[in-house]
Amino acid sequence: MKIGCHLSASNGFLHMAKETISLGGNTFQFFTRNPRGAGAKAINQSDIEKFLKFKAENGIGTILAHAPYVLNPCSANEETRELAVRLFADDIKRMEYIPESYYNFHPGSHLKQGVEKGIEYISEMLNTTLKKEQTTTVLLETMAGKGSEVGSKFEELRMIIDRTKLDGKLGVCLDTCHVYDAGYDIVNNLDGVISEFDRIIGLERLKAIHLNDSKNPFASHKDRHEKIGEGSIGLDAVKRIINHPKLKDLPFFLETPNDSEGYAKEIALLKAMRND
Ligand code: FE
Ligand code: FE
Ligand code: ZN
Repeated sequence: MKIGCHLSASNGFLHMAKETISLGGNTFQFFTRNPRGAGAKAINQSDIEKFLKFKAENGIGTILAHAPYVLNPCSANEETRELAVRLFADDIKRMEYIPESYYNFHPGSHLKQGVEKGIEYISEMLNTTLKKEQTTTVLLETMAGKGSEVGSKFEELRMIIDRTKLDGKLGVCLDTCHVYDAGYDIVNNLDGVISEFDRIIGLERLKAIHLNDSKNPFASHKDRHEKIGEGSIGLDAVKRIINHPKLKDLPFFLETPNDSEGYAKEIALLKAMRND
């Protein structure tokens, strides 16, 4: 099983890889830069070399970078949109130091412009930043639909993909808290949600799962993550998700409210709940 959690990147890649092993995982997620600001640390070539060696020797899987929250490619504010393009392009460039990784971003909030306009701006950013030669796969995250978030419906993600020229560089990261919050009933109808995803987006686009429980009831559009088994999704549904034949080979990333000890416990619990 490929599993890991969100880690702080402040001590570098080698540190995150070692932390992952100590937590019982084999992959991890991290922010490319300060999530609420724009600043990024300089690339540390020696840390990256050590990390790549450690990754190969210890069977660490494809890692997942997460874009900062300030990135909003469909903002009504032109400067915010330009900042998004700059940060996105710079993040892709930096990710190429760790070839074949995933880079996840929130499609953004259209504010009062409408979802159509939002989708137009998002694909515009992708069309200016994606490069033929990049090895990084960019993942659109499924959103809860809080405020004016784009991407809480599979159809919206499909439209972004359709309008992106280099769509071969695009995949999707499904966040269990977000989709449940958005009104996809993964608790009572997991098979139905998976076939809807397949029909609208195509399961071959699904590259990663953010595995979170939710503090709020079904379809509440709030986006508040809960510890595994302690929220409205519950342990039985989580067990079905991690063992589903169409999901079980994907990497699972925990973004639950936990310290290291809590993450280690959840990783152990999830590994124990696997049927294989
Ligand atoms: Fe996210
Ligand atoms: Fe997420
Ligand atoms: Zn969330």
